Amino acid sequence: MDVRVGVIGVGMIGQDHIRRITQVLTGGSVTAVNDVDTARAGQVAAVLPGVGQHRVSVHATAQDLIADGNVDAVLVASWGPAHEEQVVAAIGAGKPVFCEKPLAPASDACLRIMEAEMAAGRRLVQVGFMRRYDAGYRAMKAALDDSGIGAPLLMHCAHRNPSVPDYGFTTDMIISDSAVHEMDIVRWLFGEEIVAATVLTPRRAGQAPDGLQDPLILLLEMANGVLVDDELFVSARYGYDVRGEVVCETGTVALADVSEVTVRAQNRYGGRVPVDWRDRFIRAYDAELQEWLNAVAAGSAAGPSSWDGYAAAAVTDAALEALRTGQRTAVSMPERPEFYAK
Ligand code: NAP
Repeated sequence: MDVRVGVIGVGMIGQDHIRRITQVLTGGSVTAVNDVDTARAGQVAAVLPGVGQHRVSVHATAQDLIADGNVDAVLVASWGPAHEEQVVAAIGAGKPVFCEKPLAPASDACLRIMEAEMAAGRRLVQVGFMRRYDAGYRAMKAALDDSGIGAPLLMHCAHRNPSVPDYGFTTDMIISDSAVHEMDIVRWLFGEEIVAATVLTPRRAGQAPDGLQDPLILLLEMANGVLVDDELFVSARYGYDVRGEVVCETGTVALADVSEVTVRAQNRYGGRVPVDWRDRFIRAYDAELQEWLNAVAAGSAAGPSSWDGYAAAAVTDAALEALRTGQRTAVSMPERPEFYAK
């Protein structure tokens, strides 16, 4: 039988995940939705197929959705500050929960989610760090784990967006919304925690929205000494471009360009740069949710854990402090509980 999923938050990514579960993936059905915008939830539910004779339920509160007997598992895609309450409620009901990043914006809220999950006695939470499911990063990790090019020494990353909204997008969000993906992916690639962060502020791009310090360079130090530089440039105009190259002792491994074709003509060659993050990572989102559905159906848990969500929040705290002070800032984190050992 399909995993019956209740979706909390049916904005942009919530609707995209609903499309995915309903039209692309196997083994899942959406049976209930909730949103603070009840009208939006109703509109989304009205065009969904439901299961058998059952129409999709529209719940007035997230708590009602979590308690729904036709909901086996919960997908949280509301805004970040609501995540803690909703994830903890799902854990309390013993239901697996996929939570979009951030697990919670504040690291102490992530710790409370971990405590609730450990009290429940089994892993119930998967966090939406989808880059781990990208074919390029997976091939990069396989090359690193193979050790054929020696130990990793350093990594160059770039995270370029064409633009961000003129209002409401802050310099802090370049760290908390954009760089958080590199924070997670380097922890996963190297199997190490990040121990310190430094932020550098190059010459500001003239086209950046007023008040935005763009670009930034974030330096991350891993526990094993690997140094990661991450160029974050959210007004880059030309496309959405995520780059990565790991320099190892006797070779390098880099993400390839993702253009489907290259065109050679008139003594030039060129390819396509993705339009935005959905375009670049659409297959990664598909794989991420398919693996979540498979794990829920098997009664197991996989993928980025609450600990990974917490670690990203703790590194974000350090990077924001580094941005404010201009100083190298140590990441403050307790030992990883045995419960979250790989
Ligand atoms: P969005 O378009 O604003 O959608 C969020 C939806 O949740 C809105 O409909 C919002 O209603 C609703 N909502 C807010 N608080 C709620 C609550 N307490 N209970 C139920 N519904 C609530 O935002 P989004 O871009 O989809 O982002 C949603 C989450 O996904 C965020 O955590 C974001 O960081 C994450 N995200 C992750 C990725 C990724 O790459 N993994 C990409 C995009 C987004 P109102 O509009 O009325 O407030």
